[in-house]
Amino acid sequence: MKNKICWILIVMFLCIVISPIANTTVYADNQDRQALISSAKYALALFVIAKLGGVIFDDDEQSPSSQPSAPQAPSSPSSPYQSRDRQLTGNLAGKVIVIDPGHGGYDPGAVGSAGIKEKDLNLDVALMLYDILQLRTDAKLFLTRSTDKFITLSNRTQLARHKKADVFLSIHHNSDVIGEKHGIETYVHHNASQSTWALADHIQRSLTASLGFVDRGILVGNFQVIRQLTDRNALLLELGYLSNQSEAKLLNKTVTKQKAAQAIYEGIIRYFNTQK
Ligand SMILES: [Zn+2]
Repeated sequence: MKNKICWILIVMFLCIVISPIANTTVYADNQDRQALISSAKYALALFVIAKLGGVIFDDDEQSPSSQPSAPQAPSSPSSPYQSRDRQLTGNLAGKVIVIDPGHGGYDPGAVGSAGIKEKDLNLDVALMLYDILQLRTDAKLFLTRSTDKFITLSNRTQLARHKKADVFLSIHHNSDVIGEKHGIETYVHHNASQSTWALADHIQRSLTASLGFVDRGILVGNFQVIRQLTDRNALLLELGYLSNQSEAKLLNKTVTKQKAAQAIYEGIIRYFNTQK
């Protein structure tokens, strides 16, 4: 967009400069001069129209959609993973995984004592998980959001349904009023299938082993994103308590987020390996 504005400014500048030059008496033959001016004006007009067309139909700046975004490759800035490292570790061909970073936009989720916002941590871990899965598997991946944007709960589950998700993971961080609780929880809906419980078990084990946080277990919850997806393997993960000062400090570290993403990925791989 900036390039296009520059081009338009250059063309306008040229119009202003060329016009008086063309009107001087450099050209003895008046007819030749008029013909040259006409040609130049015609060429400039075409150029301006082409450039304006480029601005109007700029693919990079589509109007916002009410549907949740489903970016294909939103590499996180802090990702240690590079495309040259691509090495498949699990056969997830044909599997669809929807990663759902909880909250976003005007909804910060839980806010830790140091002003740490849950929505930011959720997104960081989700993007890291996306990167790992993209490099290590051939699963089809989707994110309900890849930026700090508000997405309704219905839109999140609609995306999972629309993309025929095999796995839907809603990533969250927890909080309690007193600030004493700490540890990791994985939520399933009470109508969830055996396979969803199995996935929850693999991910919960992997997360607690990797982060070394307290294992608060697999719990039954009635959150909308898992309630509306009982026919999928839908889980809601609470990676730790932001209301607990020492845990919040750890959760905010890049290395902890990377460990969490790696642990979730390993849980997914183990789950699919047992499903064969
Ligand atoms: Zn949350």
